[in-house]
Amino acid sequence: MPELYDLHCHSTASDGALSPAAIVLRAHQHGVTALALTDHDTTAGLSEAQASAEATGLKLIPGIELSTLWENQCFHIVGIGINPEHPPLAEATRNLQNTRTERAEKIADKLAKKRIPGAMEAVKKAAGDGMITRSHFADFLVSQHHVSTPQEAFDRYLAKGKPAYVATPWAELDLAVNWITESGGIAVLAHPLRYKLSANWMKRLLTAFKNAGGQGIEVITGRISSDEIRLAATLASRFELAGSTGSDFHCPDQWVELGRLAPLPGHIKPVWELLN
Ligand code: AMP
Ligand code: MN
Ligand code: MN
Ligand code: MN
Repeated sequence: MPELYDLHCHSTASDGALSPAAIVLRAHQHGVTALALTDHDTTAGLSEAQASAEATGLKLIPGIELSTLWENQCFHIVGIGINPEHPPLAEATRNLQNTRTERAEKIADKLAKKRIPGAMEAVKKAAGDGMITRSHFADFLVSQHHVSTPQEAFDRYLAKGKPAYVATPWAELDLAVNWITESGGIAVLAHPLRYKLSANWMKRLLTAFKNAGGQGIEVITGRISSDEIRLAATLASRFELAGSTGSDFHCPDQWVELGRLAPLPGHIKPVWELLN
C-alpha cells in the first residue's frame, strides 16, 4: 500500500472539533498512513493520539504548530518528529498556555467594551483543557448571532486592525525553531502563501528561517490551487527546503478532509525523508 502523509491537523487540544483519538481514527479511515497531529502551541493531545495510532496501525508523528513572531508579524511554524518532553519545548508549551489564556482575557475585555459580554466564560467552556484560540471566539460570536460565519467574526472583530484584536507576545521565530530542532524535530514553515508577503519579504523570511535551522516548507496545504502549489514548490526549490504536505484539518465538512491532498511535485524533496 502506498504511504499517504498528512503532516498538519488539529484536535480538541487546540481548535479542532475532534478528539486526538477520533482524528487518528478518521485519518486512518481516509487512507492516511502517517499523520502528524499539530495543535496550536500544545502537545497535550499527542499521548492520546499515540495510543489510538497503536490500536489502528497508523504511524503517528508527534507534532505542534507554534505561533511565532518575525518582524512583528505572526508566522506559524509546524514542528514534526518533535520530542514533546524535551525540557525547553515542554517549558515553552507550558508558558504558551498562560500566554493564550491572558490573551483570551484581553480579547474578551475588548468584546465586552463593544457590548458583547460573556465571551471568556464561553470560550473557556468550549476549549475545556485545550488551548483557547481565536476560532473559539469566532464560534462564540456566531452562536450569539453577532455575525453569521466564523470568517465574518474575523473580518469584523478578531483580525489584525479590528476592535477585538490583541497583539500577542509570541516567541521570536528563531527561538521557536530552536525549540523544535533541539527536541529532534524538523521545523516547517506552515502555509507560506497565507501571509501575503511580497517576493522580497518572502526571501527575507525564508533566509531568516533557514538561518535559524528551518528545513521544510508546506508545498501542499488545505485549499490550494495548482498555481499556488507551483509557487510554493518554486520557493522550496529556490531556498533548498524540503516540501511538506498537510490538510490543516480542523473539523469535518468545513475544512479539507484528512489525507485529501494533491501529490508533492516530483522534483521536491519530501520532508518525511528527513525524519528518522
Ligand atoms: P489564533 O488563536 O490566533 O492562533 O487563531 C487560531 C485559528 O484562527 C487559526 O488556526 C485559524 O484556524 C483561524 N483564523 C486565523 N485567522 C483567520 C482569518 N482571518 N479568518 C478565518 N479564520 C482565521
Ligand atoms: Mn486553527
Ligand atoms: Mn496555521
Ligand atoms: Mn493549522
